[in-house]
Amino acid sequence: MEEIVEAWQEVLGLGTWHLKVDWDKPSGEDADATTWRSNQYDRATMHFSKDHVDWDADFANWIVVHELLHLVTREVDEMLKDVYDQLHRDVATQVERRYEQTIEGIVDRLARRIVMIGGTIGEADDEGEEGSPEGEVRGAEQELSHPGQVSRGERESESYTGG
Ligand SMILES: [Zn+2]
Repeated sequence: MEEIVEAWQEVLGLGTWHLKVDWDKPSGEDADATTWRSNQYDRATMHFSKDHVDWDADFANWIVVHELLHLVTREVDEMLKDVYDQLHRDVATQVERRYEQTIEGIVDRLARRIVMIGGTIGEADDEGEEGSPEGEVRGAEQELSHPGQVSRGERESESYTGG
């Protein structure tokens, strides 16, 4: 998984981020992955489901790219949060719900396309082939289910962006 994370980190222009995979704390039952990200610093910690051992390479790539795209959207997410504070609570709740649905959809679609175009890193049997996303394009037709769980951190300066 780390190999996949590192490879896509570069490809997605997140080279300045300090990314860590926390294997001691898997994501919750209802999410394939959750990612904690700092809102001020380029730092994030990813948690993957215990089930990740059963994922095929395409699925693993898709999940990783999905999580990394939530880092890409951080500034927009944070801008929206500032806007919520200016809105009536009911309106804010609605806008927030709508935004989260929308951003999940966008992130998910983009993640699929990016893996499709960039290729799958770390196919099961090619150890030693350092992940360059120029491999064979795979998994385009695979229909994948995804819980798209979003949970937010309680602390002010950080948030979980899950699933
Ligand atoms: Zn997500």
